[in-house]
Amino acid sequence: MILETFPVGPLQCNCTILADEQTREAIVIDPGDEISRIHRRLTTLGLTLKQILITHAHIDHVGGAQKLKALTGAPIFLNENDLPLLQIMAEQAAWVGVDTPETAPPDEALIDGSSVGLANYPARVLHTPGHTQGSICLHFAPLKMVLAGDTLFAGSIGRTDLPGGNGEQILHSIQNRLLTLADETKVVPGHGPVTTIGAERRTNPFLK
Ligand SMILES: [Zn+2]
Repeated sequence: MILETFPVGPLQCNCTILADEQTREAIVIDPGDEISRIHRRLTTLGLTLKQILITHAHIDHVGGAQKLKALTGAPIFLNENDLPLLQIMAEQAAWVGVDTPETAPPDEALIDGSSVGLANYPARVLHTPGHTQGSICLHFAPLKMVLAGDTLFAGSIGRTDLPGGNGEQILHSIQNRLLTLADETKVVPGHGPVTTIGAERRTNPFLK
């Protein structure tokens, strides 16, 4: 397995490349920015991109998706409840002070309970609304790993003051969809350092 997570763009969104070393097939999660760097990495490793998975439609997570699709032909997956956020991309760009990236409707929906990812590294989609209405987490059960987008961070949770945010809902999502996972589950958040479900259960001040 190849697993690389690195921050991209002015808001330092964690982008992840996950690949099967045998088949050389890869998925990319949250290519928010720095697409030439991501594409170069895929090329250097000799990987074929199969899926572009977006945890939610904030610009720092989805901003480079169309560019990466144009370079690789890989389909973009997004939960349909975040389509309204795609439609206000110019507004989102203004919040951050960057140029408006190209957007288009996703190729595939990320539906709660469905399976995405690679044959040897599948992930189950967990719909976890609250940060946005279409926020999802990706649970790679065999890897004991969850990619949490901006729902859960090390020592914090996602902000809920932007359009589509809901403070009660994010807590409900975390309690019912994430804290139900095993303590040893590794959490790769949308920003900042890696943590575990157990560490957040014990010490996250927002979950007391
Ligand atoms: Zn976000």
